[in-house]
Amino acid sequence: MIPFNKSAVVGRELDYIGQAVANGKTSGDGPFTQKCQRYFEERYGFTKCLLTTSCTDALEMAAMLADLRPGDEVIMPSFTFVSTAQAFVRQGAKVIFVDSGRNHPNMQAEQIEPLITARTKVIVPVHYGGVACDMRRIMALASRYRLLVVEDAAQAIDAYYSGELADPEYPWQGRLHRQDACYPLGGIAHLACFSFHATKNIQCGEGGMLVINAPRLVQRAEVIWNLGTNRAAHARGEVTKYEWVDVGSSFQPSEITAAFLWGQLEKLELVQSLRTYIWQRYADDLATLAAQGRCTLPTMPLHAAHNAHSFYLVCNGADERNQLIAFLLKRGVTAAFHYQSLQDSPFYSRTPAACDLLNCRRFADCLVRLPLFYGFGAGQVTDIIAAVRAFYDAVSIPAVYEAAAPEWVF
Ligand SMILES: *Cc1c(COP(=O)(O)O)cnc(C)c1O
Repeated sequence: MIPFNKSAVVGRELDYIGQAVANGKTSGDGPFTQKCQRYFEERYGFTKCLLTTSCTDALEMAAMLADLRPGDEVIMPSFTFVSTAQAFVRQGAKVIFVDSGRNHPNMQAEQIEPLITARTKVIVPVHYGGVACDMRRIMALASRYRLLVVEDAAQAIDAYYSGELADPEYPWQGRLHRQDACYPLGGIAHLACFSFHATKNIQCGEGGMLVINAPRLVQRAEVIWNLGTNRAAHARGEVTKYEWVDVGSSFQPSEITAAFLWGQLEKLELVQSLRTYIWQRYADDLATLAAQGRCTLPTMPLHAAHNAHSFYLVCNGADERNQLIAFLLKRGVTAAFHYQSLQDSPFYSRTPAACDLLNCRRFADCLVRLPLFYGFGAGQVTDIIAAVRAFYDAVSIPAVYEAAAPEWVF
């Protein structure tokens, strides 16, 4: 059976856990935490990084830093993980959902401006599958309407935005380390949140990171990260005793977690090259099915250099998608779907919504993700591709998505 995901040891993770224990310092903010944070600051040029116990936690810190008042509005895609919305709902904000694009699950940046009101405070672009949102347009809107932008970069480690960005409003963008003239995701907005959950490219079981790019937010972020105290300033000798100065919580992962993460980060290039190879095999070998109109493969906007986080097909119907998953399972391949549109969720649907988000619903109904993880055997990609082809050979008439709006004729 080929699982959908498998977390693997890729380097010296277990040695480093041993070292953390031998150091006698297993609580948070020790040498491994600092090594990991510095890695991101140096490799990508992020202003300040703080490891957290999850991306959910990092999003909650971001929502706290946004200083929201009840009734303030936060704009984000409906096609995302529940944590993206929940972090802001917990701070009393009202979430306003944007539809996905017709060809990509990312939120359609053109739809954001009409949703901005006097209560709007934050925009949260989610880089789905490590594919960059239209950051130039989003950051320009933020500067025009004085909004905070939080990148949900949970899936976007080592992924890039390839457009031009020189907005003098955001001086930190000029300090980012560009690769082939592309800007690293997570470094563009005021704040960004990464995940190191077991299902992500680089993982430590449960883990995350808040990136603070806007210098004015750094000090408060440190306080929130330190249970609402000025412990960090005290450690630097800036204050004589450390005290409770703000609201915060316990957001730091233990050194055991950070040690595992450091072992993974040392092998980032290796993990990325393997994932990219698998992703490209899927894309090349399934291209003929897509050309025949049997399914759709991921389309990449010109402004995105992705990180091979996920490979998916979009089926022509919900039934067909479910049949494909069942067929693959019988052949020993575990495929998975997600997300359900948050606007249609039991929790949110108590809130009156402005309109149906049809593109999002289509991705929720028709998208299926194929296995993609470090440690694939050589023949496994071939087997999975053969199983997908066998399914389409057995289904003779292309299905049509039942609830398709006219613009979805594809
Ligand atoms: C995985 C994920 C999260 C949550 O990450 P955790 O580290 O599990 O809290 C949030 N948003 C998106 C888009 C994700 O993919």
